[in-house]
Amino acid sequence: MFVVHCHEHGSSVLLDMSRVEGISTSPEGPVLDWRCWCGARGRLVAGTRSEPRAVAAPVVELEAHRRTGDTDPDQVAS
Ligand SMILES: [Zn+2]
Repeated sequence: MFVVHCHEHGSSVLLDMSRVEGISTSPEGPVLDWRCWCGARGRLVAGTRSEPRAVAAPVVELEAHRRTGDTDPDQVAS
C-alpha cells in the first residue's frame, strides 16, 4: 500500500499494488505509474511527489528487440 496525491480527488488516496500500471527510473529516482480508484492516472516520483499522467504506461516494442537481437522475447516470457 502507498499514498499518492490524486488530482481528481484533490486529496491523498491510499492505493494498493493492483493500481500500479508501470515502474521506471528517472534522474530523480524511481517513478511509479498509478491509476486511482476514480480512474485518474498519475505518477509518483521518488516516492514523494505525485503528478498527473495523461497516457497509459509506455509499452515495450518487442519488434525492435527482435531486429537488434538483444533479447529473445520467447525466452523472457517463460
Ligand atoms: Zn482519485
